[in-house]
Amino acid sequence: MIYLDNAATTQMDTDVISFMHELMQKHYGNPSSIHAAGRQTRVIVEEARTKISSLLNVSPAEIFFTSGGTEGIYTIISGLLSKPEITKVITSPTEHSAMLNAINQYAKLYNVEVKMLSVDKEGSIDINELSAELENCKGKALVSLMHANNEIGTLLSIKKVGEVCKKYNALFFSDTVQTMGKFKNDFSDDYPDFAIGSAHKFHGPKGVGFMYINGNNKVNPLFIGSQERNMRSGTENIFSIAAMAKAMEIAYEGMDSTIEKFYELKSYLISKIDKETKGISYHGDVNGLPNIVNIAVPKTSNNEMLLMKFDIAGIMVSGGSACSSGALKDSHVIEAIGKANEFRAIRIAFSKYITKDDLDKFVDLLKTI
Ligand code: PLP
Repeated sequence: MIYLDNAATTQMDTDVISFMHELMQKHYGNPSSIHAAGRQTRVIVEEARTKISSLLNVSPAEIFFTSGGTEGIYTIISGLLSKPEITKVITSPTEHSAMLNAINQYAKLYNVEVKMLSVDKEGSIDINELSAELENCKGKALVSLMHANNEIGTLLSIKKVGEVCKKYNALFFSDTVQTMGKFKNDFSDDYPDFAIGSAHKFHGPKGVGFMYINGNNKVNPLFIGSQERNMRSGTENIFSIAAMAKAMEIAYEGMDSTIEKFYELKSYLISKIDKETKGISYHGDVNGLPNIVNIAVPKTSNNEMLLMKFDIAGIMVSGGSACSSGALKDSHVIEAIGKANEFRAIRIAFSKYITKDDLDKFVDLLKTI
């Protein structure tokens, strides 16, 4: 079997599994307990927080553990839109469905206006449209724009958007799930105000993540209680939190060579497809994320079952995000860039374990299908 769906999730690194296993055998205390067993696991949680914060160049007090990206999104969106001073959310139609659902739900609940920016055919927003929206905004705005699109890999300049947000005194939340552990994100220059990470995207365990909340900002919690400095109630998932920090550390150590490998695989795949097939193009900005290639196959009645045929042959790819890949309907991202009528999407996402041989097998099957 060949797994080419690493934007949906990644397999755990064996060093992370061993590290987590060892902790599980040794520790079981509740980090909120004041006795020795509790104090030991408190140290484990705080060491993980320090590790992650130092990789991002921020303060440990700005990192809050969650169950993953979706919870981070819901906490930040609900926690900000419930504040009366936020009058408008500015976002884009290519955000992850967790973000679009959260914005839709809480904007209705708290009567906040939503502005969808337009995106071009590569999925990029227009920074001038954002500036104009912020200039005309009467109250305080929240800008929510993802760092990298999980389906087509298009990248946003956090710096440029952050500078515009600062100029107009708007808050900036970036969904960084697809770049956390993939790029050396450095949030020390004060933007974005809010960001998130999810361990299963960088060879850590599933069901654990974190929020970065800039120290100048406060968010109302989703789960009320004392843990995570009143920001997230519930006993901490100590083993997964520690394993996430370990996975992130491993990712940073090997990052330069992994990025180089991704660029090499990406150009190898694209030139092989271009040479050996006809009529295939690509969705999104080809200069976007180095680990994602979204292939546009012209729609015919013969290729409706495209993804299933790959699956039967043992090659795992997807049509979009994991949440929509099982469904027959087109991806909202491909629709937003105006390509859904003409093309079917096949998303290939690499990990450090992918080889050129895997890509050869994918292209051979693509030709046959
Ligand atoms: N945001 C983006 C861009 C994602 O790719 C994902 C995962 O698919 C999420 C949010 C949700 O993260 P999680 O699976 O940890 O809830």
